[in-house]
Parts: sequence; structure tokens; C-alpha cells
Amino acid sequence: MQTLKILNSGFITHDVKRFILEKPKGFVYRPGQSAHISINLPGWEDKIRPFTFTSLNDWPYLEFIIKIHDDHNGVTNELGKLKLGSELLLHDVFGSIEYKGPGIFIAGGTGITPFIAIFRALYISDNLRKIGLIYSNRTKEDIILGQELFKMLGPAYINIFTREGVIGFWERRIDRKYLIETIRNFDTRFYVCGPQKFTEDITKDLINLGVNPQSLIV
Ligand SMILES: Cc1cc2nc3c(=O)[nH]c(=O)nc-3n(C[C@H](O)[C@H](O)[C@H](O)COP(=O)(O)OP(=O)(O)OC[C@H]3O[C@@H](n4cnc5c(N)ncnc54)[C@H](O)[C@@H]3O)c2cc1C
Repeated sequence: MQTLKILNSGFITHDVKRFILEKPKGFVYRPGQSAHISINLPGWEDKIRPFTFTSLNDWPYLEFIIKIHDDHNGVTNELGKLKLGSELLLHDVFGSIEYKGPGIFIAGGTGITPFIAIFRALYISDNLRKIGLIYSNRTKEDIILGQELFKMLGPAYINIFTREGVIGFWERRIDRKYLIETIRNFDTRFYVCGPQKFTEDITKDLINLGVNPQSLIV
């Protein structure tokens, strides 16, 4: 277990906070991996939750992008109140989503975090090609790092919104009909990450549309 000091933190949307943490010497992880984390405060040390690294291994610090659920007194609500110099406990690192090659990435809300790390790694090594991103959020205000995603992916980056009408953007859910209209070739790799139901529904739709289950990374 590692104790990590918060070096910087701040809200990047109305309910999503970015944490910059001290990186322990010799600490290694891969894009798409997550860590089990708790807060180093009395009563919170054992409340362990999973979060995904958005930083890259060769950065001098660790970055996490975390949605704060302030509707109850859970871990993220407490994370939302932490000040600089507070400490987190990093229990272990585990593989979530691993990059296996070009394909279509479908994210819902904070499900974008593993994709951010993967895209950043591909972008700096000039390998971000033949990749498309469909990113679903409730409203435009919920998009995480939209400018950076656009800079990295350009027109291969599509936003869709489930709640609010925003001129120039898709305003609907990712469902079977949407997938048929938007994706021309299902004979490719798909990466899906988001709330459990989002991932389950889209995975089911993709398989029904002929996607090889082995080409699905969830
Ligand atoms: C592998 C993995 C990686 C992840 N990576 C990230 C990431 O990078 N960034 C990120 O933001 N999230 C990520 N998550 C999700 C994150 O782990 C959860 O949002 C977090 O654990 C919530 O912790 P919590 O203690 O605040 O809420 P919990 O108490 O664990 O509650 C979870 C959900 O239930 C609702 N809920 C629970 N109890 C109540 C209650 N009494 N009243 C109202 N609502 C309630 C909360 O609103 C919340 O939506 C990841 C999840 C997994 C599985």
C-alpha cells in the first residue's frame, strides 16, 4: 500500500474533480489500468473504491479524474472536500481496459477515463490512427476533457447527449438504431466503458449486430 499526497486538485466540470498526486518512486502502471483507493483519514481508510489512472507512466505525477457523488456521504463526496496536502491510500493496481489495436471506443460519463489514458499514450507516440470515439453524456456540461479529446481525435470524436438539446450535436441515446446509423463496419474492434447498464446494453446490441465477442473489450 502506498500513501499519496494530493499535490493539486480542482473541479474540471460541475461535478468532476481532477486530482494530481505524488508518484511513488519506481511505481509503474499501464494506460487503462485502475487502482483501489481510499482516503487516509480516520474512518475512511477501509472504504476502498476503484478509480482509473488518466496520467501516463512516464509523467512525474499521478492523475485521477473523479466524479463526485454528493447525494450521500460516500468516498467521492469526501474526496470532493479534501484539501491540498491531504493523503490517499493506493492499495493495488489492476487491469481494466487494455488497448488491443484500432477500433471504435464507446464511453458513457466517467467511463471515458481509461480511454483518456489510452488516447494520450497513442497520441504522444503518434499512433492514434483508425480510432473513433462515441462519447455519451447527459448534457454538454458533463463532458470531461472535451477540448483535449477533440485535439487528439478531430472529426473521429462524436458527442451524444441524452438530456439536453445542443445545436450541432447528437441528442439521443446509443441504442441499436443509433449504432446502425452511425457505424458502417461492425467487423472491427469495440471498446465499451461506462455505467454497468450502459456497457451491458451496448455490448448486447453490438453482438446482435454481428460483432465478434472476441473483438469486444469492456
Ligand atoms: C474499474 C473501475 C474504474 C473506475 N474508474 C473511475 C474513474 O476513473 N473516475 C470515476 O469518477 N469513477 C470511476 N469508477 C466509479 C467509481 O468507482 C464510483 O463512482 C465510486 O466507487 C463511488 O464511490 P462512493 O463511495 O462515492 O459511492 P458509493 O457509496 O459506492 O455509491 C455508488 C453509487 O450509488 C449511489 N448511492 C449509493 N448510496 C446512496 C445513497 N445512500 N443515496 C443516494 N445515492 C447513493 C451513488 O450516487 C453512486 O452513484 C470506476 C469504477 C470501476 C469499477
